[in-house]
Amino acid sequence: MAWTEVFHCDVCGKEKSDGAGDWWLAWNEKISPTPSDPEQIVLKITRWNGFLSHDADAKHLCGARCAQTIMDRWMQAKG
Ligand SMILES: [Zn+2]
Repeated sequence: MAWTEVFHCDVCGKEKSDGAGDWWLAWNEKISPTPSDPEQIVLKITRWNGFLSHDADAKHLCGARCAQTIMDRWMQAKG
């Protein structure tokens, strides 16, 4: 049975309507350069994908502007 999913931009709250293109997905991942180094955050961004959009950790972004905002926040975050 199909169900209607509603995605909202994690930055501005805009609702994704069918066919409205140029949405993006982003993730924060942690990486340790060496076992003794502190972890640091890796930001991953990719084009919208219906399967990946269900990932519990994915952030949904309504366009390049909000993708840019996520990157700005990530650059300002410590660690
Ligand atoms: Zn947005």
